[in-house]
Amino acid sequence: MRLGIDVGGTTVKIGIIDDKKIIRSFAIPTKKETLFKDIYEAVKDEKNIEFIGFGLPGTVKDNYIVNLPNIGIKDVDINEEFKKYFPNVKIASTNDANAAALGESIAASKFKSTYFITLGTGVGGGYVYNGSLVNGSHACAGEVGHSFIDPVHNFKCGCGLNGCLETVSSATGVVRLAKTYKDKFKTNIDFDTVSCQKVFEAAKSGDELGLYVVNMMADYLGIALANIAVCCDVDAFIIGGGVMAAGDFLLDKIKESYVRHAHYGVRNIEIYKASLGNQAGMLGAAYLDE
Ligand SMILES: [Zn+2]
Repeated sequence: MRLGIDVGGTTVKIGIIDDKKIIRSFAIPTKKETLFKDIYEAVKDEKNIEFIGFGLPGTVKDNYIVNLPNIGIKDVDINEEFKKYFPNVKIASTNDANAAALGESIAASKFKSTYFITLGTGVGGGYVYNGSLVNGSHACAGEVGHSFIDPVHNFKCGCGLNGCLETVSSATGVVRLAKTYKDKFKTNIDFDTVSCQKVFEAAKSGDELGLYVVNMMADYLGIALANIAVCCDVDAFIIGGGVMAAGDFLLDKIKESYVRHAHYGVRNIEIYKASLGNQAGMLGAAYLDE
């Protein structure tokens, strides 16, 4: 049995996993002061655990937590904090988007190499090569959200740079673009209650501003994928996250942009919607040793 532990800002999702399937899962509240002790209490009676993997919302390298800004944990050695509870079990960790990337790649078993992009409040990603997660020399191999994509608006990004993919193609990016162009197009969007979902709903009903914004964020995503494709040359792109609730309406626009921008050698790479939703992180975390 393996444990896949997906630590989020409010809950920790714990999966008991065998043969690449989640047998059972449950959640406990995320508490900054007692995070690893709480996880131990929740799993201590599980039998025959051969591996424990963590997906964590922030920067983590070699089982060392550099920073989890949403939880308020910094400079914590997971081996020190958790290994004492399971001295004979191998433990590994990565960030949450990487864990989800590996989980989705396992679910997409016909593809060996994939690049996963998650569109949520921010834009995250993860690169799986030949069945194994690629962290890179600086744990940045999945950080497509902070690739430079938009010199036109050059919006300030949370990472300190400007013009990152995340500033235009995340849920917050969609709202930012809608606000930027609200006086240039006819629209029924109510800007007192505007959200990413409402911009997409407007676009689907033919709203001029909604369509302009959705076409633009999808165009940027297609360019980002085309850039990744000539660097990583994967079998498939997998796109997940809350923004993908927009479904084929968004996926088709991303594909259209991708085909327009991709080099001919990689133009046929498949792009499809993630299938596991919020289970992906648990499944991926459980196989970080592969
Ligand atoms: Zn950035």
